[in-house]
Amino acid sequence: MTCTIDMPLNISSILKDLGTTAGHARFQKAFIKSLNNVYNLMAKNQYYNIDDFNGAVLQAYDVIRGYKFNEFLKAGNLKLAPNVLIFDMPSIITCKGACAHCYALKAERIYKNTRIMRLKNLILIDFALNYKPFYKILQNRLINEIKLKSNYFKLSVVRLHSSGDFYKQQYLQFWLEIAKKLEKIENIKLYTYTKQLDNNTIDFINDNFKNFNIVKSVIEAPSGKKYINFGNNGYIGNIAKMLKKQGITYHICNYGLKSGHETKCMGNCTACLNCSHVLFHQH
Ligand code: SF4
Repeated sequence: MTCTIDMPLNISSILKDLGTTAGHARFQKAFIKSLNNVYNLMAKNQYYNIDDFNGAVLQAYDVIRGYKFNEFLKAGNLKLAPNVLIFDMPSIITCKGACAHCYALKAERIYKNTRIMRLKNLILIDFALNYKPFYKILQNRLINEIKLKSNYFKLSVVRLHSSGDFYKQQYLQFWLEIAKKLEKIENIKLYTYTKQLDNNTIDFINDNFKNFNIVKSVIEAPSGKKYINFGNNGYIGNIAKMLKKQGITYHICNYGLKSGHETKCMGNCTACLNCSHVLFHQH
């Protein structure tokens, strides 16, 4: 067994257990590979530590072995209406456009459970991408949870990544396949924001998926110059003018502004489910 990471004690025993009980060299190799990937990524976010990693590995291991029912999606948050299910990944380390004002980082800085939960999701996703038999299992678990909660709690929207982003092309593919499978359930829509994907990919997905919308967090000018989709009135006004000139439909989000005090995100405003150019004011 080769590891590039310095395995903490409890993880060594998990690997031993995997070696003896799983009886499957490919399984063990893929798990170690994912742990290495995630551990190396984790080192880029100063708020994560080795205790978070240990906790996330233990939880991921329980899910993989089927020891524990795991809830992947939480309903609503301070900003979003309670009819929204949210799936999160760690901020910064899955997002190459990490911003100084990253609000998703706030919760990670404060709450250990949040760090562990997001890291556990990343471990499981990375393992699924490395180990095909688990890929379908994880997709089915997510689909079943979405269906169950949407039926029972009348939830109709899935928000991918109130923190995190598509850190790999295959990870995007993973969710696109889920969206295709959910397409027949008319009342469930998925949406997300991204800095990781290029314009062509986003446009292709938005044109080809009725139930999946991606909002651009980076707006590209005809010259190729890129603008972060977040700023003061003047800055956002200029981006709006540029889009208008090109005949591109846009919406300016007023959530959190005085003028938008009655706006309920995913309640009375659902622009992010349909429009790829929703512009965001700093507030
Ligand atoms: S535009 Fe509407 S749906 Fe999008 S973030 Fe703002 S309030 Fe929410």
